[in-house]
Amino acid sequence: MATNSQVPNPAHIEADSMLARRFGKETVNYFSSSPLNRLSFLRSDHPFLSAAIKHPSTRFVILKDLAPLTRSPTALYLAKYDEVRKLVSETIYDKSEEDIIKEHDSRKTEPHLIFLGVDEASKQDRFTWKIYSGTPYFALDVSEKGSQEQQAHAKDVVSGFEAQGLSFLQARVAMTFSADEAAIYAQARALTDWNTRNTFCGTCGHRTISINSGTKRSCPPTNLALAAEGKPAEKPACSTRTTLSNLSFPRTDPTIIVAVISTDGKRILLGRSKRFPPYWYSTLAGFIEPAESVEDAVRREVWEEAGVTLSRVIIHSTQPWPYPANLMIGAIAQVSDPAHEVINLNHDPELEDARWFEIEEVQEALRVGTSGLGDPAGPEWKEGALRLPPATAIANQLIQAAIDIDFLASDKSAKM
Ligand SMILES: [Zn+2]
Repeated sequence: MATNSQVPNPAHIEADSMLARRFGKETVNYFSSSPLNRLSFLRSDHPFLSAAIKHPSTRFVILKDLAPLTRSPTALYLAKYDEVRKLVSETIYDKSEEDIIKEHDSRKTEPHLIFLGVDEASKQDRFTWKIYSGTPYFALDVSEKGSQEQQAHAKDVVSGFEAQGLSFLQARVAMTFSADEAAIYAQARALTDWNTRNTFCGTCGHRTISINSGTKRSCPPTNLALAAEGKPAEKPACSTRTTLSNLSFPRTDPTIIVAVISTDGKRILLGRSKRFPPYWYSTLAGFIEPAESVEDAVRREVWEEAGVTLSRVIIHSTQPWPYPANLMIGAIAQVSDPAHEVINLNHDPELEDARWFEIEEVQEALRVGTSGLGDPAGPEWKEGALRLPPATAIANQLIQAAIDIDFLASDKSAKM
């Protein structure tokens, strides 16, 4: 079961600032606050990447069909270069990005390999590049994909891991890792998933190739495989090449999630979908639509799903959610007129139920009734009582804040 120790600490938690005094301490959520410095400006520096993949301290997060390689259900297995060298050629970053695009040959394929960043806090055997130093982290997709050769190498690499007794964690949503590993895994999963879904150009339908160490994809103008068939190597025109950038970038889909407070501040609104276990409720959530502000999306979703009309909406905290590419924007909102609190589930039939819960009942559920969706409630929970999501879910943090008198008070100095 998830525990509070999985929730990361805010950056600079001890620091005093006018903002901290005014708004209280920052809430950070599971999957955020990665220990890695992403060093995004080094992603196209191939001499850096080439040295980094082979360094003895370097670690690889391994994914197969998006399932992470683990030593146990609560710990990732971080592989070394020697364990993946069959699949990741020593020469993979020898050519410049420009030459890789120019020499594109669709008969040759590479696994999805993503530079995640450098753990600057690691002490041993640090890799140093200019002024940057620490343990480099990469994500590697070992799914059986690409050319026959790549598939055979992937199979060998996987057999090597399985021979060590390691396994790929099969979970719809993996939320059992420590705070640090969860953030690293989230980045690895989101980017691997995006690369997997974008192997063909969305504009011209031809193959794309990975550049910028797995964080961009390019539609190359030529394909040497065509030349080998005696055809011109030039591919049909693609408008992604005629504009300033011939690239496709990873996407992040913003989603709202909200804890709603009643007019008198004594109750909060929670809902449940059919797939939840009995007595399990959570905050309301939904996608932000094009040309919609976060606050408008919160008001729309809550009205559509529960018939409740909100007034003031504030943004509380956010959570990256790598299933597959969401950013949950957590809000707290209040109804300003008791007449607007009437629940109506008949607009959008998404929720099976929505209800106002007294703060005391919610406090008790936070104490004894939290668990992951598929997990049993704690030993003190009694059949029929409210159940809530675990501390690793932003919903839990929002509920805690919404029933916290200090959070609603104007003076935050006590909570800094
Ligand atoms: Zn294209």
